[in-house]
Amino acid sequence: MEDFKEFGLSEALVERLQHMGFEKPTPIQEQAIPLALEGRDILGTAQTGTGKTGAFGIPIAARIEENPESVALVMTPTRELATQVLKQLQTMLSRRTRDKVALLIGGDPMHKQLRQLRTVPRLIVGTPGRINDHLRRKSLKLSKADFLVLDETDRMLDMGFSEQIEDIINKMATPRQTLLFSATLPKNIVRIADTYLSNPERVEVGVTSAPAQNVKQEIVQVNDQEKYSTLISELEARSGTVIVFVKTKLGADRLAARLWEDGHKARAIHGDLPQKKRDRVIANYRSQKFRILVATDIAARGLDVPHIEHVINYDLPQNPEDYIHRIGRTARAGAEGHALCMIGPRDRGKWNAIDRLMNPDKVEPQKRRPGPGGKGKKRFGKGGPRGKGKTAALGKPARPAKGGFKKKRFSGKPKKQAA
Ligand code: ADP
Ligand code: MG
Repeated sequence: MEDFKEFGLSEALVERLQHMGFEKPTPIQEQAIPLALEGRDILGTAQTGTGKTGAFGIPIAARIEENPESVALVMTPTRELATQVLKQLQTMLSRRTRDKVALLIGGDPMHKQLRQLRTVPRLIVGTPGRINDHLRRKSLKLSKADFLVLDETDRMLDMGFSEQIEDIINKMATPRQTLLFSATLPKNIVRIADTYLSNPERVEVGVTSAPAQNVKQEIVQVNDQEKYSTLISELEARSGTVIVFVKTKLGADRLAARLWEDGHKARAIHGDLPQKKRDRVIANYRSQKFRILVATDIAARGLDVPHIEHVINYDLPQNPEDYIHRIGRTARAGAEGHALCMIGPRDRGKWNAIDRLMNPDKVEPQKRRPGPGGKGKKRFGKGGPRGKGKTAALGKPARPAKGGFKKKRFSGKPKKQAA
């Protein structure tokens, strides 16, 4: 595919895309856009950073432009993601429709949203909770909304939104076109798809349980006492923007404060911060006013900051699938990224679950041999030293990924030890 013109999009839309730096469609866009323009429902899975927002945003922009009656609704799991999606979609919309939008997210003042809703928006982006609030207050009607996107559906369901989502869908126009995107396809999503999609086309890019191809992954084994100092030396050894994942909100605050005291420009983001503060932190991070964002999983979900070069897992995620989402924060749209996992003595079980998810076809060793390293720090590159235990195989994709941007092999050499 040469460029976006071949989809039969309006010249003005193609120009706006060029303006955004979108010259060529990404693989998921190449598959999804023509189907969506034909009016098909889509069940889409793709790795993070593959351009899903454009895959549904471009058809929305085309539809809103062509059909003056059409109203599109996009649901996302988090407020940050909704904000980000709306921002990207607005730059795709024509000048006439650009301001006819509503952002319906929790934590934002109601009066602003009520004002937006009075303009009869053509595009509504929001989180299920707040959209439902508006439906209940009757400040929102969806009887004209005939285009639905469910973004990061697996996460919305994880967050307990499934009933709310169904209530919302039931209030929408029929017939309706629906695009469902998800990083993974567990049973509960298949059920939603069976119920709410009509004869969907399945669109898939890459192995759904594999992270972006161009993330270099490393692990470092640490004990509790050396954890923080290891983080410091890792931060000093790297250049570029970093996101550090931790388990708890309190942990995020504490770590960011400690880093700041030690001369590292770090800020925390988590679900307990007031919305205004969260917006400000993200905006400042995006404009590189500070280097290190210390985040909890929910707060960072879907975050698209192109200059993130390093993901450091200070704490392992509770849920192994979050690992894939975490490392998807780097290597956006084909850039190269790095991911480091700090593994403590009690993290074995969690780490094995991640490893199993990443390498589903891997043959289990008969008897577990001692892991690499044993005591103290030992690091190895992606390919790792062979036959030295489970973790050594980290990230070797079990199957070669279809699509993706550029493929890069990981060096099998053990990395030199950090000072
Ligand atoms: P996903 O939702 O799949 O994780 P995004 O839609 O957030 O990915 O896209 C990731 C990044 O790639 C964004 O910074 C986006 O602007 C960029 N991008 C998406 N499509 C294109 C394209 N066709 N050309 C260039 N950059 C793109
Ligand atoms: Mg996305």
